[in-house]
Amino acid sequence: MASLSLQHITKKYPNGFEAVKDFNLEIADKEFIIFVGPSGCGKSTTLRMIAGLEEISGGTLKIGDKVVNDVEPKDRDIAMVFQNYALYPHMTVYDNMAFGLKLRKVPKDQIDKMVKEAAKILDLEKLLDRKPKALSGGQRQRVAMGRAIVREPKVFLMDEPLSNLDAKLRVQMRTEISKLHERLGATIIYVTHDQTEAMTLGTRIVVMKDGVVQQVDTPKNLYDNP
Ligand code: ADP
Ligand code: ADP
Repeated sequence: MASLSLQHITKKYPNGFEAVKDFNLEIADKEFIIFVGPSGCGKSTTLRMIAGLEEISGGTLKIGDKVVNDVEPKDRDIAMVFQNYALYPHMTVYDNMAFGLKLRKVPKDQIDKMVKEAAKILDLEKLLDRKPKALSGGQRQRVAMGRAIVREPKVFLMDEPLSNLDAKLRVQMRTEISKLHERLGATIIYVTHDQTEAMTLGTRIVVMKDGVVQQVDTPKNLYDNP
């Protein structure tokens, strides 16, 4: 069960700025939700609150039936993929993917199995011994995804994961993310500026402006009635 419920979620930063105002959204299990809107409208802040990286100022956040407002990030069953990959430069691809599992004290043979399975899904099997600097942009992005999927989270948060890639790779990775969504059966929330990504990947699109949700609809309805 990885439905999410955001009820009257607000974020007020310590300087008094209200970045998210009364955000309401019910997300069904296995949905692919897209957040769009101008820079500074509160997309990342919302994502970080869901991940537990930013405190929620008001409202209720549920994952499944459980209120998680005060639950530690590591106990939320959520993985986040960032725009800048944030790989550990001194570690191999294998160790980058294994790192989070080691921290969680997962037994070594199980880590090995999970990393190799993720490597297979993401076509990284031949690159496990390489360091990030010896990888292309697309390969690095796949490692970042791999690091997220080895944890088998029920919810994936992706903050413009493809924005640093060139156009050709972006198209390729878009297809891979779509396949990954089907294969993992996970719920995904995905921030993008790219209209094609929003239209092709999303089951629903959330349009934000100035911290407020303006519109929530399917790609088809948004496209037909912009
Ligand atoms: P988006 O992801 O849509 O570009 P963000 O969620 O990053 O927007 O930011 C929303 C607003 O909150 C912006 O106006 C930003 O300047 C502001 N903001 C972000 N982080 C902080 C912070 N730590 N303190 C104060 N304001 C912040
Ligand atoms: P540690 O450094 O934590 O002791 P090891 O490097 O000894 O871990 O590796 C532990 C397990 O991970 C081994 O069983 C090995 O099969 C697997 N492993 C480590 N690096 C790779 C790699 N590059 N490719 C495939 N498997 C690897």
